[in-house]
Amino acid sequence: MSVDQVYCGGEFDCIVVGAGHAGCEAAHAVARMGLSVALLTQSMEAIALMPCNPSVGGPAKGHVVAEIDALGGLMGYAADMSFVQMRTLNTGKGPAVQALRAQTDKRLYQQVVRELLERTPNLRIIQASVVEILVESGVARGVRTHTGTIYRAEAVVVTTGTYMESTVIVGASIIASGPNGLMPSHGLAANLRALGFRLGRLKTGTPPRIHRRSIHFDRMEEQRGDASYTRFSRRSSRFAPEQMSCWLTYTTAATHEIIRSNLHRSPLYAGLIAGRGPRYCPSIEDKVVRFADKERHQIFLEPEGYSTEEVYVQGFSTSLPEDVQVMMLRSVIGLEQAEMMRAGYAIEYDFVDPTQLTLALESKLYAGLFFAGQINGSSGYEEAAGQGLWAGINAGAKVRGLPPFVLLRSEAYLGVLVDDLVTKGTSEPYRLMTSRAEHRLLLRFDNAESRLLPKGVEVGVVPERELVRLREDEAGIRQWVEYLERRKVSPEEAVNRHLASVFSSPIEHNTAAAALLRRPEITWERLSVIVPELSEVALHLAQRVSIEVKYAGYIARQCEAVELFQRLELKAIPNGVRYSEMRGLSLEAREKLERVQPRSYGQASRISGVSPADIAMLMVHLERR
Ligand SMILES: Cc1cc2nc3c(=O)[nH]c(=O)nc-3n(C[C@H](O)[C@H](O)[C@H](O)COP(=O)(O)OP(=O)(O)OC[C@H]3O[C@@H](n4cnc5c(N)ncnc54)[C@H](O)[C@@H]3O)c2cc1C
Repeated sequence: MSVDQVYCGGEFDCIVVGAGHAGCEAAHAVARMGLSVALLTQSMEAIALMPCNPSVGGPAKGHVVAEIDALGGLMGYAADMSFVQMRTLNTGKGPAVQALRAQTDKRLYQQVVRELLERTPNLRIIQASVVEILVESGVARGVRTHTGTIYRAEAVVVTTGTYMESTVIVGASIIASGPNGLMPSHGLAANLRALGFRLGRLKTGTPPRIHRRSIHFDRMEEQRGDASYTRFSRRSSRFAPEQMSCWLTYTTAATHEIIRSNLHRSPLYAGLIAGRGPRYCPSIEDKVVRFADKERHQIFLEPEGYSTEEVYVQGFSTSLPEDVQVMMLRSVIGLEQAEMMRAGYAIEYDFVDPTQLTLALESKLYAGLFFAGQINGSSGYEEAAGQGLWAGINAGAKVRGLPPFVLLRSEAYLGVLVDDLVTKGTSEPYRLMTSRAEHRLLLRFDNAESRLLPKGVEVGVVPERELVRLREDEAGIRQWVEYLERRKVSPEEAVNRHLASVFSSPIEHNTAAAALLRRPEITWERLSVIVPELSEVALHLAQRVSIEVKYAGYIARQCEAVELFQRLELKAIPNGVRYSEMRGLSLEAREKLERVQPRSYGQASRISGVSPADIAMLMVHLERR
């Protein structure tokens, strides 16, 4: 081969750039659809790396993991097979915000994901750094790597996370680096700009890591895992380790004083950091400045895994100089002798403005080119993984000539996530929260499979047999709901003694078990004492039946609200509408509608700067057309 000939490393149906949380899900989804996929990533040692906190799940994030699992994805299974602690959060609150969170062994998590990917037919992992997207007449055709090798495909999914032109900042030190000292990605950002994409700069940060032996746990509050716990995935039952604890401690007045007296050395406050950081994950220096009235801030110590002494200092994200970090750490209760293993740092990176994407996460500029994960301006493993799965399914659908796969805001947190990003865009790392969902009582952790698994079978990412199992589960749930309405509890002395013991009023007549369950103080476990057959019901079914009975009224009302919502949401707007020519709409609305090209009135109504009056006028224009 002559020097000027280009070596083609292979032809695939799809190429995924980057094996972070988004890339792994995207590649696995495409392979599950029976298509060939190449997963190109800078370092195979960084596959599914968790550069920040060791946890998966929690409110909204846990819901997304359950949705990813219902669509046959990896994250839920991998977390179930690598957790050091499992806890259901918000058990004192309603079912809409209750969610599972796993503290994981980061290395084991990576190993589980890597093994799954390496054993997946149709999926090839290749270590390479992509520097260019190959396009021909408006269509993505493949990629070029740093060695000059090209790979061809009908669809390309870019998931480069926090690596594009990334710089790591600690005090006055600013170096070109990815997370954990890994190589940044050079060249691709410039190529995307040359292709016409708008890019921005964002920032996120991480706390120091300390050695376990240097911690005085006796001065802290232990946080144990749940004794009995559900899992993210029905496919993972074997892994049941002895759980590790997390520990709660606090900053002190000394910590705050050290921070205040060194703010002039903070790159954040010295203006060395240009990128916007995550509002809901502020650095400790930000917390001390913004919440100056607070005497102390909570700090959680989270083990990074079984086979490491490294401990993650949650709530202590910082980019202050190392000497200051050590002083700050040693002013925290129980960390007086802390040994810092890794300093906290801030990382800045390039991202792509997501309003340049359709609801399929496909670019509007080049057909067959998709973006997913932190590159779209989101923050979080779960948000990235969810987008990766979504983009992977859509890349597969594109190759197969199938219609785009889109979930509505009323169907999934994934729908809320993608719609928010591509419709509203973001100027800071976007983090998913339950408050972002209008219909969260329907988007619960426990019913993710019922909502999404059938759609997964439809697009070919979930095997048909799973549907059979789901239908059996759902039949079981219906039967138990009906049974509890029929099953009478008689006002025996033992029954009323038990009700009194849980501060619930006695019954005087035969009462339906469901009516008792609807009492706020009566849980499934408490009802099982007087309706013993309930203790036979599997945990995941019991949870579901309990919610369906207790919240039946609220759920019915939310279903009505969804019907109303879907009327606008399903009212489609044709492609290629020339909004700039529409008189009667505000100038801002015309500009924004032109840029976003919404596919429905519902989506149009969520674009910031588009008023209800604009929507009404738009309807008139399009009806007339
Ligand atoms: C310092 C730090 C702090 C964070 N703090 C938080 C936090 O507090 N809360 C939170 O929710 N999330 C936080 N995150 C974010 C979280 O890590 C990410 O959201 C998540 O990892 C994003 O997943 P991703 O798949 O989009 O990208 P990443 O996990 O970043 O993976 C991208 C992958 O692409 C590869 N790659 C990049 N460029 C190329 C290229 N040109 N060619 C080939 N391969 C390439 C990389 O090697 C990597 O494997 C933090 C991340 C970092 C780095």
